[in-house]
Amino acid sequence: MSTHRGPGRRPSLPSFLAAAARRPGGVAGSKPAEAPPSTRRPSTVQLKSPREIALMREAGRLVARAHEAARVLVVPGATTADLDAAVAAVFREAGAEPLFLNYPCSTKGKPPFPAVICSSVNEQVVHGIPNKRPLKAGDVVAVDTGCRLDGWCGDSAFTWAVGPVAPEVRKLLDATADVLQLAVRAMGRCRWWSEVATLMEQYVRSQGFSVIENFVGHGIGKDMHEEPQVPNFVSKALRKHDIRLEPGVVLAVEPMVAMGAKEVRTLDDGWTVETKDRRPSAHFEHTIAITADGPEILTLP
Ligand code: MG
Ligand code: MG
Repeated sequence: MSTHRGPGRRPSLPSFLAAAARRPGGVAGSKPAEAPPSTRRPSTVQLKSPREIALMREAGRLVARAHEAARVLVVPGATTADLDAAVAAVFREAGAEPLFLNYPCSTKGKPPFPAVICSSVNEQVVHGIPNKRPLKAGDVVAVDTGCRLDGWCGDSAFTWAVGPVAPEVRKLLDATADVLQLAVRAMGRCRWWSEVATLMEQYVRSQGFSVIENFVGHGIGKDMHEEPQVPNFVSKALRKHDIRLEPGVVLAVEPMVAMGAKEVRTLDDGWTVETKDRRPSAHFEHTIAITADGPEILTLP
């Protein structure tokens, strides 16, 4: 269980990356630590051409516009059903296919996902179902959505504060947004995803929070969920089946960070995931391509 440290000054990301680079065995340095090639079998990744990445950029832009339509509605009294309707309208008007609606449930006998966004409030981590309960000041709501446009997918998530929130909650949101930005930068400096995941985990711990491990990011392209899995933490399994970071790799990177412990449970609806200790969590996600010029966030306006 992670220690609750309370609000404090956060080290800026460049200083965190610089410190990690100086550390012995640091993962962000100019000479990244590398496992012996004999023990590392890179995951299979379907590389995308510059033309395909350009098409994914269009899908990503539309996802960003949809998020903007939801974000402006996040005020006390609004409902997550309102946010869902706003996002659905953006996709409909653009002729894009919403990717979450009717997504099959992994739990046998449970219904497919019934909405265009996942909206996860407070202790809910991911996969919350929009409803008509009004949001209250002090809540946080994670909005996750994706679409397919002209055959290519985009997927991203943001966690928004509803009105003023407690300082510790603000810190959780900032740290989770920051760890995603850290990952983007590190993807330009590291050769393997495990090095990025190590940095992400270290940063989250340095803020007194924990990385949720039951859910991970993913490859993305013509389908929303492609190989490989993209964990936000490092493990033996990841080091063994690591992801080589090279031009053409496109990943949906999505850190989920808990204020308390990382343990989660899924509710009876088959979808909603919440922290077991019912303390808040946050979720940010971008679809990120590695190009010849470095990492590029595709899900930007
Ligand atoms: Mg998503
Ligand atoms: Mg995703």
